[in-house]
Amino acid sequence: MLWKSSDFNPENIQEESLRRIYTYQAIRANEVYSSFSAHYPRGKKRILDYKYIKGDKLRAYTTSIWKYDKIRVSSPTIYMVRSLCDQLLANEGFLPTIVGSDKYAKRENIPNFLADPFEVNFQLQGEAPDNANRLLFSDLMADMCATFILCHEIGHIICGHTAFFKTLFNSECLDFFSITTSKDITVELKQAMEYDADIVASALLPQYIEQLSKSVKSNKRHQEIFKEVISQGKLQEDILMLSLMFLYAMFVYIQGRGELKYNAMSEHPHPLLRAMYVKDAVITRMKERNKLDLAYILEKLPMYFDQFDERLEQFSLNQPEVIIEDIFRRQDGLMQGLIENAKIHRGVCRHYSWLPPEEWN
Ligand SMILES: [Zn+2]
Repeated sequence: MLWKSSDFNPENIQEESLRRIYTYQAIRANEVYSSFSAHYPRGKKRILDYKYIKGDKLRAYTTSIWKYDKIRVSSPTIYMVRSLCDQLLANEGFLPTIVGSDKYAKRENIPNFLADPFEVNFQLQGEAPDNANRLLFSDLMADMCATFILCHEIGHIICGHTAFFKTLFNSECLDFFSITTSKDITVELKQAMEYDADIVASALLPQYIEQLSKSVKSNKRHQEIFKEVISQGKLQEDILMLSLMFLYAMFVYIQGRGELKYNAMSEHPHPLLRAMYVKDAVITRMKERNKLDLAYILEKLPMYFDQFDERLEQFSLNQPEVIIEDIFRRQDGLMQGLIENAKIHRGVCRHYSWLPPEEWN
């Protein structure tokens, strides 16, 4: 890949494992995009332009101009997602099955951890595991979360959202991490689009999870990382659940430590709601493609949730009980509203969508 001097060039990242995630993401962006553009006539003449931009906040957005589909990810985004994974995994008692090796390793010069990605005052001492395998696992989960974000952006492109927004409102599609509350007429439309982009990403993520599960056969390091998980006999199910849980942690992290930033007028559905429907959509898609022990998942997933909530609470990243209760109480209604809203608004972008009408629902 060629990077212009005005962009953020990931090749300048000193730490090799981090540099690798940034470079892989750029390669993966092109792979996922080309598989769609080769398949759908509307995508055939379009070109992907994936770039890292210099910035100081979590940002990932897409825009379509003429024949170009531009995905922009701000320089700290992947780093901050990995910091979150590092921070969680730094405690050996958390996810104790991810051990595999006692080989000592450490990240150099860990800066403070931003406990609220949008509030610089909430800083904690940065931590990371001191075990080579847990560090690699952190890289894998950060890469998986970044892949979800990437697939979400590609979802906006193939659903026609970006071309629609550029043409009608001269604006880019929403930032994945946007916490903006909007009062204009497009709020419901934007929420509908965000929901659809999340669903596209959820349909694509199983490929990543399957690849990771398969890699264990040939990759010695992965065999070590998942040694204890393998011994439980349900590797694919556990990797699926671990992936869903790190996505959950990322969504909780977006909400941040501060007061509730989301409401009915937010451009995105509440992150906890996003985490819930993403979980359901990924499991459904995985089940369509693989033999999956659903009973095992239903039994074990609540335990993973407890472990993650407990760990997130140690950084005060968990949401106040009243908010969680309120969302769970209203979850069915909120979901029904979202799905109906998405159905109503889906047709708006039909003209720009790559997908043929029969794939619209
Ligand atoms: Zn989006």
